[in-house]
Amino acid sequence: MKVLGVVNQKGGVGKTTTAVNLAAYLAAGGRKVLLLDMDPQGNATSGLGLRGAEQGLYEALGEPARAAEFTLPTLQDGLFVLPSTPDLAGAGVELADDPDALTRLLASVGGYDLVLIDAPPSLGPLTVNVLAAVDALLIPLQAEYYALEGLAGLMETVERVQGGLNPRLKVLGVVLTMFDGRTNLAQEVETMVRGHFGELVFWSVVPRNVRLSEAPSFSKPINAFAPLSSGAAAYKRLADEVMQRVEKI
Ligand code: ADP
Ligand code: MG
Repeated sequence: MKVLGVVNQKGGVGKTTTAVNLAAYLAAGGRKVLLLDMDPQGNATSGLGLRGAEQGLYEALGEPARAAEFTLPTLQDGLFVLPSTPDLAGAGVELADDPDALTRLLASVGGYDLVLIDAPPSLGPLTVNVLAAVDALLIPLQAEYYALEGLAGLMETVERVQGGLNPRLKVLGVVLTMFDGRTNLAQEVETMVRGHFGELVFWSVVPRNVRLSEAPSFSKPINAFAPLSSGAAAYKRLADEVMQRVEKI
């Protein structure tokens, strides 16, 4: 079982869109996948039509042995979710002194090929728990001028966690999101990001595609909502690339 965290402390860069649609394509490709919604805003949970769950990730953190009870199936075969519930908003306080809570939860989760974690937009205790628990990170970057701003803070936190809480932590890759190929700016940003991160940047680039932003209001991942869209094609390719890299870690 490999555990991947989708992390960037900036909001609105495509973390949730990436976590949900990547998880759906990995499951559609035959893997058994668990998506953990670690963001108290619960966008991954509601985007899959699971808002309203009374128990979820928060309760599972408190009682890891009962995690399976709080795990919900989705309409996508092979894709399961530990949902975010309103209680998760208060978990930051409890997790501040307990960076290994998520690691303990994952130790009692079994039977999945992959676990994907949708992280909140901060470097607070929830995200530190994610960094401590995962094998590798996937970092979505919005293809805009300030894409790299703030990443220094994330990279410093990653190094600190590698030096203590989680020495095996790796960066699986950086994925460019909301790419608008019609603008020179987007292409300049791509050149800059590839220059900075080299091979770490996935070849698959996610275009700006309105179908990706509509899918959550239909409670569906993109492979079910608009499988012929450019956004769907991009996440399908990304899923293939992610699997190739995961097999090497
Ligand atoms: P984060 O989880 O990092 O805050 P989201 O995945 O929620 O970011 O994306 C922020 C907003 O942008 C959402 O409204 C989402 O639907 C939209 N969005 C994300 N990726 C794309 C894309 N490739 N094309 C169009 N809209 C997108
Ligand atoms: Mg999000």
